Amino acid sequence: MLSAKSKQCLALLLALLLAAPAAQSQTADDQSGLAQLATGSPAPHSLSIFALPAKSLFGAQKSAAHLRASAIGTYALGCLAGAQQLPITGDTWQVMRLSRNRNWGTPQLNSFLERISEEAKAKSGWNGFLVGDMAQPRGGPMKTGHASHQIGLDADVWFTPMPDHVMSAAEREDMAPIEMVKNHSTLNQDAWTESRDKLIQTVAQDPQVARIFVHPPIKKELCRWAGNQGAWLAKVRPLYGHTFHFHIRMKCPEGMSACKNQWEPHPTDGTGCGKELAYWYSDAPWVHKKPPPGAPKPKPRPPLTLAGLPAECRAVIAAP
Ligand SMILES: [Zn+2]
Repeated sequence: MLSAKSKQCLALLLALLLAAPAAQSQTADDQSGLAQLATGSPAPHSLSIFALPAKSLFGAQKSAAHLRASAIGTYALGCLAGAQQLPITGDTWQVMRLSRNRNWGTPQLNSFLERISEEAKAKSGWNGFLVGDMAQPRGGPMKTGHASHQIGLDADVWFTPMPDHVMSAAEREDMAPIEMVKNHSTLNQDAWTESRDKLIQTVAQDPQVARIFVHPPIKKELCRWAGNQGAWLAKVRPLYGHTFHFHIRMKCPEGMSACKNQWEPHPTDGTGCGKELAYWYSDAPWVHKKPPPGAPKPKPRPPLTLAGLPAECRAVIAAP
C-alpha cells in the first residue's frame, strides 16, 4: 500500500512528466528564463519571458499551476496558483463560451458558485446560473475583456436564466444573452423581472461576497425595489459594461496570505442609492475629456510585464 504522502509525490511526478512536452515548445530563452524563475535568481530583463506583455504570457496558459491554491495580489493586478476548473455542468449552473477557457478559479470560488446557485434557486426561484468569465488557468491579466478577474475570485453570471436542458458546446458558444438595459440610464423593463432583484439580493447578502458590479440602471432598479434600504445594497456597485451579466467578487479566502482585499464599500447613505448613484447619472463617468489644443500627447505607457506583477507570480508561470 502506498501512503497518502507517496501517492502525492507520484501524482506530482506524473504532473511534471505530463507537463514536459508543453515546455519543449517554448524557446530556449523561455526555458532558461523558466529555469531561473524556478531557482529564484533575479529576473534577467533580456529574456523574452520578462519582455512579453503579461496579458500575452498569462493569456497563453492552458493549464493550472500545480501549486497550493492561492489568490495572489489584487483583483486587477495578480495571478492564481493551484486553480481549479469549474465543472462545465452542474445541477444549478452551466458554463458559457467554453472556447475562452476562463472557467478557472480558486477552489473557494468554485464551491461558492455551486452553493450560491443552489441557494438562488431555492430562495429566488432562479433557474440556475449561466457562468461567463471567471479567471484564466493561471489567472493574470487578459488579452481581452476585463481589468480584473486576475486572481480567481471574480465571476460573471448572466441575467439570462439557465435553460432546462444541458446545452451543447455550440449552444454555449452562440446563445445570445438578454440585455437588461436600453442604455446607460434606462432599464429594459421588458426583460427585467422581480426574480432578478431577488437573485442579486441573495448573492449580495452572502458574507463571502465583497462586491457585485451591475450597470447603473440595474442598481437604480434594485434601490427602487428594496425601498432604498438594506445593507446588502452597499455591496452592489454601478460599473460600466455589466449590462447582461452581473459580476460577483469574493473576499480573500482565509489563509491566503498573498491575497489583498479591496477597501470595503461604505457609502454615506448606507446603500449607495443616493450620491453614489447620482454620480453615475451625471455626465462625468461617460464623457471623455479632450486634452486642451496644443497639449503634449501623453506618452504611451509600456505594457505590464511579469516584473510588474507580485513576485510570487513568477513561480506561478514557472510551475508545471
Ligand atoms: Zn465583470
